[in-house]
Amino acid sequence: MKSAVLTDKKMPFCPGCGHGVIVNSISKAFMELGYNPLDIIIVSDIGCSGLVDPLFATHTVHGLHGRAPALGLGVAMGLANRNKKVIVIQGDGGATIGLQHLLEAARRNIDVTLLVFNNLLYGMTGGQISGLSTDKFKELRHVEEGVPPFDIVRLAHQAGAVSSARVISPANFTESIKFAVETSGFSLLELASVCPSYGLQKIKELDDFSEEAEALLNHRKANEVEYIETPSLLDKVEIIVDKFNSSINDRYGVVLAGSAGGGIQLAAELLAKAGMSAGLYATMKGEYPVTVGTGFSIAEVILSRKPINYTGLDKPDVIFIMTEDGLDKVKNLIKNETMIITDDFLSLSADNISSKSFSKKVGKRSAVLSAISYWISNTDIIPEEAFKEAIRPHKHADLLIKAIETPL
Ligand code: SF4
Repeated sequence: MKSAVLTDKKMPFCPGCGHGVIVNSISKAFMELGYNPLDIIIVSDIGCSGLVDPLFATHTVHGLHGRAPALGLGVAMGLANRNKKVIVIQGDGGATIGLQHLLEAARRNIDVTLLVFNNLLYGMTGGQISGLSTDKFKELRHVEEGVPPFDIVRLAHQAGAVSSARVISPANFTESIKFAVETSGFSLLELASVCPSYGLQKIKELDDFSEEAEALLNHRKANEVEYIETPSLLDKVEIIVDKFNSSINDRYGVVLAGSAGGGIQLAAELLAKAGMSAGLYATMKGEYPVTVGTGFSIAEVILSRKPINYTGLDKPDVIFIMTEDGLDKVKNLIKNETMIITDDFLSLSADNISSKSFSKKVGKRSAVLSAISYWISNTDIIPEEAFKEAIRPHKHADLLIKAIETPL
């Protein structure tokens, strides 16, 4: 019977490649478990094992080399429907390049199955050994490395995987995959593959690889590791209700320019939220030195009636300049028509400028909020109440609202 899990695409692998056997076993396992292909999300890595995407009629996502477990974790944690199953596929090269990601996936015990297609080498780049190449294989390839391979199964086990196993015989692939898929929590299977193009015809030639193999090592008993379902990341997304009005018909660009510790990034975020509650699309972009406690702090906010496809801001409509650091960074953006709102201790002249003693009245930390409030009260871009509502969930809301209500 043709598998509903696979497309009719031809296997892209070299003749005799073991990866095709594993792909067919995955398909068989899901068919036997009765999965709808669209309830499966395959996350693949780089390398020959990463060529699987077009073969599957499931959802597929392609990751960076070694990073597929991290991507798979993100997908699983973002799933609203927990009946869907995330399968991460990577080769032994990807597994060693991204070992930390693999161990984190096991440690966090997210409901993901990781299938490591282990052919003991990097096939796509010419047969170089990987961190999982066995001693016997290295001997066969005349490679003297002098260090033992990682035991990926034991590492995953020790990191906290609910189940981890090494499977050598293709006859056991389907049942092992079914077991791993049906395991709640993180499961890892190291599946032996062969790469005839770089000299490995039969896995059983390698005694050291197969000696512990067929016993499905290290499957933990169901009660040995407690699997606690992680809440969906989507549950944490703040819902902003659109209940105010705005006079913006098109797109409006705002730049906030100040110094570290001046509350610039927070103010930009609050302004973006206020815009959303006034029925607008909003983006926010921050810029500051890597040493976040010193130097300039710049934020750009775009408020728009239409979806924002380009987040660049070459000609802002209004620029708030709160410090010398900020002025240095944004002076090139000032055009004749740009509205400038600035603290009056800065000596700045421009055609369209309003200066007030914001920092003197409310302190450096809240000066930019006071300036935004001043701007809001002199325009009808967004209602003041929308800005206050954006502030209210903040832990220091009382102080922040007091700042914007302080007369100038
Ligand atoms: S190079 Fe090796 S691993 Fe890659 S497709 Fe060919 S046989 Fe398979």
